[in-house]
Amino acid sequence: MREEGIHNHKLQYDALILRFSGEIGIKSRPVRLRLEKRIEEIVKRELTREGIKVLGVSKFLGRLIINTPEPIAAIPRLTKVFGISSLSPALRTSSNLQDIVEASLRIAKGLLRPGSTFAVKCRRVGSHPYRSPEVCRRVGEAILNGIGRDVKVNLDEPDTSFSIEVRGADAYVYVENETIKGPGGFPKGSQGKVLCLLSGGVDSAVALWLAMKRGCYPLLVYFDNEPYTDDTTTQRAVEVAKKLSEWTQGFCNRVYLVPHGNNLKEILDRCPRRLTCILCKRMMYRIAEVLADRLGAEGLLTGEALGEQASQTLHNLRILEQAIVKYPVHRPLLGFDKDETHKIARLIGVYELTARKVKECTAAPEKPATKASIEDVLEAEERLDVDTMVRKTFEGIVVRRLDRDFSGT
Ligand code: ATP
Ligand code: MG
Repeated sequence: MREEGIHNHKLQYDALILRFSGEIGIKSRPVRLRLEKRIEEIVKRELTREGIKVLGVSKFLGRLIINTPEPIAAIPRLTKVFGISSLSPALRTSSNLQDIVEASLRIAKGLLRPGSTFAVKCRRVGSHPYRSPEVCRRVGEAILNGIGRDVKVNLDEPDTSFSIEVRGADAYVYVENETIKGPGGFPKGSQGKVLCLLSGGVDSAVALWLAMKRGCYPLLVYFDNEPYTDDTTTQRAVEVAKKLSEWTQGFCNRVYLVPHGNNLKEILDRCPRRLTCILCKRMMYRIAEVLADRLGAEGLLTGEALGEQASQTLHNLRILEQAIVKYPVHRPLLGFDKDETHKIARLIGVYELTARKVKECTAAPEKPATKASIEDVLEAEERLDVDTMVRKTFEGIVVRRLDRDFSGT
């Protein structure tokens, strides 16, 4: 998802080819068209927001083609649009064979180094006075004759691979090496809303991104455990949320901040220490359930991964889930190893932020239960006025806008 290596020649590309995720292509026609239309709308809106001139947009063969004088400038925003699997800046020309040859040669002149190898591929839709192999041959010959730098053809492992896509009266030439990976997935909003429990740590950030990637509209909730954490913890969560909101083009522009410290104090005062985290999480789930109900979400989402923490054993996840009845808890990281999570975090640009040192929750016990019995948990909760705690906490929720200054709520 980087655009490095595209500025390595002076050529001015004038189009961008966006490929839809492969999974979109295998949907039924009405679903496919709906998803593609949605991506097209998002892309157009993003280009307008970036102030990029669009001279035309067309669709063919699972691709969206944008004619624009500034394709390179469009790339950073469009690599954050879900539903796009890859992007290639291209040179647009007519489907006249001589024009194709000249356009290809212009690219090759700026790009091929002495002694390097290349290949040419062609895909063609429509009726033309030539066939694809002829295009490859003519372009190949023109490059060999026109460059004069000892370049060679290598169809198996070329240093540079030219692709030509001919469609009706138009043709596009691009270099496969300059193709940039998109995030894939489905366009935002193609699924319903999910309420994400975002802690500011790496797991929930990646879990949230994975849900967005599959088309969910994320709603964000953070539980503020002050005085057991402090403002560094909250600030980090808000910044992580803001960073992630780039992937929904500003859709998730708020975080619900839940004052959870008093609940934690009650739990610490009245319940066995080894159950603190489980009881705290069960309260989080309950409050999140009420919020999900209020916001019209379809489910809750967490960054829990099997066995990662004492509260994340298979057994304890069951105990957690028994606290709520109306919503499923989605855990996209259930089977992830930590290094897999970190890899995605780096890719989406949240790794450093989530690794920032903050005050970790001081209420966590030294010896947490890894296999809490439901009887013990229910007995502990008898000592709490759970319903009142949930109601009071809910009344204290504050909405923090992400598109405003962090210091204000
Ligand atoms: P993370 O890296 O997301 O902090 P973790 O592996 O450190 O997760 P826990 O602290 O046990 O694990 O939290 C498990 C999940 O519970 C988190 O991924 C997140 O979804 C949710 N969660 C935990 N603490 C909070 C919080 N303060 N606010 C919102 N959600 C939270
Ligand atoms: Mg954590």
